[in-house]
Amino acid sequence: MDAKQLSQRLATVGAFVPLGARLADIGSDHAYLPANLALNQRISYGIAGEVVRGPFENAQHEIEKLQLTARVHARLADGLAAIQPADRIDVVTIAGMGGPLIRHILDQGQAQLAGVQRLILQPNVGETTLRAWLMAHQFQIVAERILAEDGHTYEIIVAEPISHAVQYTAKELLVGPFLGAEKSPVFSAKWQHELARAQTAVTQMQQAKVVPTEQLATINAKIKLIEGVLADVGK
Ligand code: SAM
Repeated sequence: MDAKQLSQRLATVGAFVPLGARLADIGSDHAYLPANLALNQRISYGIAGEVVRGPFENAQHEIEKLQLTARVHARLADGLAAIQPADRIDVVTIAGMGGPLIRHILDQGQAQLAGVQRLILQPNVGETTLRAWLMAHQFQIVAERILAEDGHTYEIIVAEPISHAVQYTAKELLVGPFLGAEKSPVFSAKWQHELARAQTAVTQMQQAKVVPTEQLATINAKIKLIEGVLADVGK
C-alpha cells in the first residue's frame, strides 16, 4: 500500500470523504489517506496528524515526495490537537486504531469537533464503545461498512452531528444499526466467530474455582444478542 494505491480498508474510508472536504486524518502514519485524496483532487485541504515522531516524519516525507505541501500538512500532535481553527476542518477520519483509543481522542478533542460535519471512523476492535460515545454526544450514524481484508474484518462507521438526541438499542450498539440491517456474508461470518469465542469464554468461566458471576452475566447477555442477530440472518 502507498498513497497511490490504498488498501481496500483505507479506500473505503476515503470513499466517505465528501468531494472538496477539508480533512483531518488523525493517526495518519504515512499520510497515505490524505495524500491519496489530494492527489485525486478529492479534498481541498488536508492535515495528517500524528503523535509519534517517526510516523510524523514519514507523513512529512510522503507529502513532500508527492509535491502536496501546498494542500496537505503533517502535524505532530496528540489527537485532535492537530486541528487549528484556521484549518476550517469539516471532516475527520480516524482509522486503524482500537475503538477505545478513537473514543478517547474524540472525547479529548470535543472543542475541535465544533465545525466538523462528518466523522469517518475505522476501529480495529471495540466498535460498541465508539457507537456509545457517538450516541452520547449527538452524532448520528449515517452509514456503515464491513469488509474482510488480509484475514481481518474491519468496520467503518460514518457519523454526523445532529441537534437532537439519538438512541440506539443494545443490539444496534453491538453490531451496528446499518450492518445489522444489511447482514452481509462478512457480517455473518464475523458474528459466528464472535459467538463461538463468547461460548468458549463462558465454558472457561464456569470451570473457574470462583465463578465470575458478573462477567458471566454480561457475556451471556451478549450471546443472547448475537444469537438474536444470527437468527435474523437470511430472513
Ligand atoms: N490511519 C492509518 C491507517 O489506518 O492505515 C495508520 C494507522 S496506525 C496503525 C495508527 C497510528 O495512530 C500510529 O501511527 C500511531 O502513532 C497513531 N496514533 C496513536 N494514537 C494517536 C493519537 N492520540 N494522536 C495521533 N496519532 C495517534
